[in-house]
Amino acid sequence: MKAHDGMYIDGGWRPAATHDTTAVVNPATEEVIARVPAGSAQDVDAAVRAARAAFPGWSATPPAERAARIAALRDAMAARKDEIAATVTAELGAPPKLAQAVHTGLPIMVAGSYAELLETFPFDEKVGNSTVLLEPVGVVGAITPWNYPLHQIVAKVAPALAAGCTVVLKPAEDTPLTARVFAEAVHEAGFPAGVFNMVTGLGPVAGQALVEHTGTDLISFTGSTAVGRRIGAAAGAAVKRVALELGGKSASVVLPGADLAAAVPAGLANALSNSGQRCSALTRVLVHKDQYEEAVALAAETVAAYTPGDRLGPLVSAAQRDRVLGYIEKGVAEGARLVTGGTEPPLERGYYVSPTIFADVTPGMTIAQEEIFGPVVAFMEYEDEDDALRIANGTVYGLAGAVWGEPGAAVDFARRMEAGQVDVNGGRFNPLAPFGGYKQSGIGRELGAHGLTEYLHTKSLQF
Ligand code: NAD
Repeated sequence: MKAHDGMYIDGGWRPAATHDTTAVVNPATEEVIARVPAGSAQDVDAAVRAARAAFPGWSATPPAERAARIAALRDAMAARKDEIAATVTAELGAPPKLAQAVHTGLPIMVAGSYAELLETFPFDEKVGNSTVLLEPVGVVGAITPWNYPLHQIVAKVAPALAAGCTVVLKPAEDTPLTARVFAEAVHEAGFPAGVFNMVTGLGPVAGQALVEHTGTDLISFTGSTAVGRRIGAAAGAAVKRVALELGGKSASVVLPGADLAAAVPAGLANALSNSGQRCSALTRVLVHKDQYEEAVALAAETVAAYTPGDRLGPLVSAAQRDRVLGYIEKGVAEGARLVTGGTEPPLERGYYVSPTIFADVTPGMTIAQEEIFGPVVAFMEYEDEDDALRIANGTVYGLAGAVWGEPGAAVDFARRMEAGQVDVNGGRFNPLAPFGGYKQSGIGRELGAHGLTEYLHTKSLQF
């Protein structure tokens, strides 16, 4: 077991205010692999003060200088790519290939995208007799979840720093080691002291202190809808800006006559990636009644290749595994047909859950409405396109979606979906496209130029 001390505040590692710690557990072995300090309101206060003090200087830095520092951050992360991937595997359980390609490669690319965007991004614009200035909002409190430990951090910190804001990060308590590697990369990139700060610790303690601190101007949060609701309420009471990236229950809609051999495996690859611990996972597959049984049979066949311990990692914690098993039990109890998988542990050790397919899921069932955040997919049958649309849009969420079918019809359908992003016929993830939710999936957008504007105020000068 390794002991880590300190918080990253004002350009260096400082001792925490208390000796409290949280344990980091490897979910594949169930062993405690490290302890990190559990930050208090005092640590958060020190970090926010440092960020406030650094804000006037950093916000006045020319965009080219900010671009140079962010490019240096990308390079520092790239130089540590093996360490990052190994850390994500150790504390999240991600299979090594996924840890390298997605958990490490994607955030490096996103950091680079902000260095490039700064070369052309207009920080002022003309509107009639006005010049509109885009100015940084101030001190950002960033609160991130464990499911993509580095990507979720970079998707907030890179645009905030690019905008000229300073940052205090409170990473998820389950995955603080990846966040520490990130803080070391920030340090190596040569940002001025106080521009980036990090306090590890528990959500209701360190996270809440960050939300409530009068020195934070914007809270950017990714996590559960329950916590997002509370943060939104607190920010509203303080008239503080807030961006919320929350949960989802996204649908993959296979239009009548679509190619099942393409749609079903691609939909499952999406839903089962990261063991289903994805807010944008396509966890409901909607198939026309004439192709339904064929699709379910193909799904059962496809899922056999997702071997727990190899292609499918464990869930992040025992609590998360138990939550997912509870949903599987509920699916059976409410009358869904268990096609494959179930509650039996696939391995003796580790928080693994077998990939689980339910058929005959109807819109009123719990597993059709609530986010499960595990390798569980619900196959649902529809009568016609209007019925499919009603089912697809029939949840409180609206994060993502997919449509398969003849291109014109698929785009028409995608336009009618209440979701922040829809993949048409297997369209690839685009790290420059805005990412965020309709309805209770959130407020605001991340990534690309849309993600940058979240961290900017407008000021109009009239001439
Ligand atoms: P969570 O809401 O429990 O925690 C997220 C973060 O908030 C953690 O850092 C946690 O410490 C902190 N937190 C918890 N309570 C807090 C409080 N009272 N005040 C301030 N901060 C607090 O979520 P989780 O279990 O870490 O993540 C899983 C959830 O995140 C899922 O519901 C998933 O859909 C969602 N998610 C959404 C997106 C998105 O972009 N929309 C991305 C990833 C995850």
